[in-house]
Amino acid sequence: MSEDTTRQDTYQKAHSYPSLKCSDIGYPDCSHVAYGVSEEPLFRNAKYHAIHTHGYTEESWEKELSEKIEEFRKLIKMSSGRW
Ligand SMILES: [Zn+2]
Repeated sequence: MSEDTTRQDTYQKAHSYPSLKCSDIGYPDCSHVAYGVSEEPLFRNAKYHAIHTHGYTEESWEKELSEKIEEFRKLIKMSSGRW
């Protein structure tokens, strides 16, 4: 049935999440990977990690993000979510 196919597609999409590796954004020794259901929560998670692990402040992270947002976007990978 076509309805089933639609539902399956939605399921697949809902389980594909963007992720960003800390090692890709300048911390090669860090194994942290930030996830989010979309770009906004992904960067929120990355910010939380940056502040708590790499000594950023809210301001220094926002500054870095605004300077490097295009670069960071290129590093975002879509993962099919088995987590
Ligand atoms: Zn890190």
